[in-house]
Amino acid sequence: MIVGILGGGQLARMMALAGHPLGIKVIFLDPSDEACSKEVATGIQGDYTDEKQLTRLADQCDVITYEFENVPQQSVDFLSRLTRVHPGSKALATAQDRLHEKNMFQKLGIPTAQFAAIDSLEQLEQAINTIGLPAVLKTRRLGYDGKGQAVLRDPGDAKAAWQSIGQSPAILEAFVKFDREISIIATRSANGETAYYPLTENVHVDGILHTSKALSACPVQPKAEALSETLMTELNYVGVIALELFQQGDKLIANEFAPRVHNSGHWTMEGAYTGQFENHLRAVCDLPLGDSHAVGPSAMVNLVGAIPDIAAILAIPGCHLHLYDKAPRSGRKIGHINICAPDDNILSQRIEQITLLLP
Ligand code: AMP
Repeated sequence: MIVGILGGGQLARMMALAGHPLGIKVIFLDPSDEACSKEVATGIQGDYTDEKQLTRLADQCDVITYEFENVPQQSVDFLSRLTRVHPGSKALATAQDRLHEKNMFQKLGIPTAQFAAIDSLEQLEQAINTIGLPAVLKTRRLGYDGKGQAVLRDPGDAKAAWQSIGQSPAILEAFVKFDREISIIATRSANGETAYYPLTENVHVDGILHTSKALSACPVQPKAEALSETLMTELNYVGVIALELFQQGDKLIANEFAPRVHNSGHWTMEGAYTGQFENHLRAVCDLPLGDSHAVGPSAMVNLVGAIPDIAAILAIPGCHLHLYDKAPRSGRKIGHINICAPDDNILSQRIEQITLLLP
């Protein structure tokens, strides 16, 4: 099987690596000549809207997928007329627009923070009256890692917040006083078979994911699986999907979903019987899904901006280093460390040891 991937970043790279033992080859399309997948997969350099290069990709591949949700929907629609593309265009289009995404959650009975569509400063001022403060203003499109967002604490913040997001179409969301942020990574194949990973607790620093920890026997796991199933069924979904949630006691509030493999699922590479990258390939290639149970206590720490002392990291038992072959730059994800341990205490100690070694 040959899988085409739109995007040649670290997610495509890890898919290519997961595909090798299964005899699945990857060809990626990326506008950059420095895509970090280039050492492990065949690349086509070209723009995502270049129909000639999209056709070349489709001609060489059995199925096409994507590694990030900001690939143009028109490109996926174009490819869908030539070959199979998973996940489909509806999942992509919904995830690209926070208003469509929140409306879909609402329609499906998936709880969200109260929200309102914002197209002008006047609408923002009105929405503050109905939603209350604090609240978060988010651009509808192209926001990630906390970018394109502003927190409003006082009605006087409205103008500055509206300007700070470039007066782009947006949504205003009530600020959720969550106990913690969690995500559920799931896989679904075309015949409706599903596999759910244990919930992951996620800690962000400066808006960027810092640490993810798999939760064993979390009481809200069945609830999270049910929400994810509802979403996947609605989208007729094929592949791995991540649903990001806020937890408040036993209540789950959906924040957003990503129609792709996800940073909060990286721990599954060594921490689950079948990692998310392999399961995504299995799903899009119409192969049986692998066991998504955790092998034991597991976590992941992201490497952002700089590579720590590799020997010191590898001296910690149960640590697995994944570098993405990307030039270190402030705020850039350049790798991650997965950690496995015999029990939760030892896992916490190892995470602590790693954190102390981060530059
Ligand atoms: P997002 O880009 O929507 O994933 O938001 C980035 C981060 O901002 C989230 O991981 C949360 O830590 C925080 N955040 C986003 N929306 C809210 C909200 N409605 N209430 C509280 N915190 C939020």
